[in-house]
Amino acid sequence: MNDLSPILKVENLKKFFVVRKNILDQKKSTVQAIDGVSFHIDEGETLGLVGESGCGKTTVGRTIVRLYKPTSGHVHFRAEENSVDITSMSPTELKIIRRQMQIIYQDPYSSLNPRMTIGTLLTEPMIVHRIGSKDERTERVLSMLKAVGMKADHVKRYPHEFSGGQRQRIAIARALILHPRLVVADEPVSALDVSIQAQVLNLLEDLQQEFGLTYLFIAHNLSVVKHISDRIAVMYLGKIVELARTEDLFLRPRHPYTEALMSAIPVPDPDLKMHRITLLGDVPSPINPPSGCRFHPRCKYVRARCSSEEPELMDLGGGQFSACHFSEELRLEAISN
Ligand code: SF4
Repeated sequence: MNDLSPILKVENLKKFFVVRKNILDQKKSTVQAIDGVSFHIDEGETLGLVGESGCGKTTVGRTIVRLYKPTSGHVHFRAEENSVDITSMSPTELKIIRRQMQIIYQDPYSSLNPRMTIGTLLTEPMIVHRIGSKDERTERVLSMLKAVGMKADHVKRYPHEFSGGQRQRIAIARALILHPRLVVADEPVSALDVSIQAQVLNLLEDLQQEFGLTYLFIAHNLSVVKHISDRIAVMYLGKIVELARTEDLFLRPRHPYTEALMSAIPVPDPDLKMHRITLLGDVPSPINPPSGCRFHPRCKYVRARCSSEEPELMDLGGGQFSACHFSEELRLEAISN
């Protein structure tokens, strides 16, 4: 499926936001939204990024396409033949590179301008990037609408005339109209009815084949990510805690947080036993994350070392990584047990 050369390499990426409780409050706090995240994505691959709300996964996606300026770290993107560091690019350089990196947002209701027809929405990015003649743009719009399962006569209609699933198809068409190589899909099916989710996931897979796309697929639902991803990175409080090939992660999770996420997936087969793990306590604040292992206040395997010493993301072999002091010895429950 992929030619095994990274199109994207993220190195020790950090993004902190400075916030105040209210406008009269003089005291500022720092939200450590992402704190030292590293991974790569091969050309043609889908990397799933999963975790609870507020874990920093959306910030990772937005920082990669430079909607947010990173606090530190590097994002190397293989543009045509050269690798470029997106973190240090000027606005003009970024505009050129953005043709090759696009984002699909969660909410198809707010991501499409309600005053524009579908034809104008899809033509606009090509005008901004000065692509093609008028006739060529029209031709590309019609073929992209067809590729996402919409009809040619939809060009004259407005977003409010379509269902949520159709709007997300249009948003996907808009993201792909410039023929990008990397697409960040930020919770692209979370706002859709369950019955529509599988259709949109299948569409994304078909489009990946047709256009040779690479995906960073962000979601909070591990079963959705499983459906589409070659590898999965699990995030907790601004850090990646586990990264593995999808089948390996589900066969043998190596981090207690992954085990807990997995236990929340409904299993339709009564012969498969999976005990639901209720995480202890609330999600800690990214303003003041716990010492040592950030997961330690909620981990059922916690030991003395966990609250004082931060675990590194260790290479366990076979492309599996885990940030737990006891990954080698814990026998965690997998969904296939
Ligand atoms: Fe749990 Fe300790 Fe492993 Fe953290 S390092 S996941 S607290 S066992």
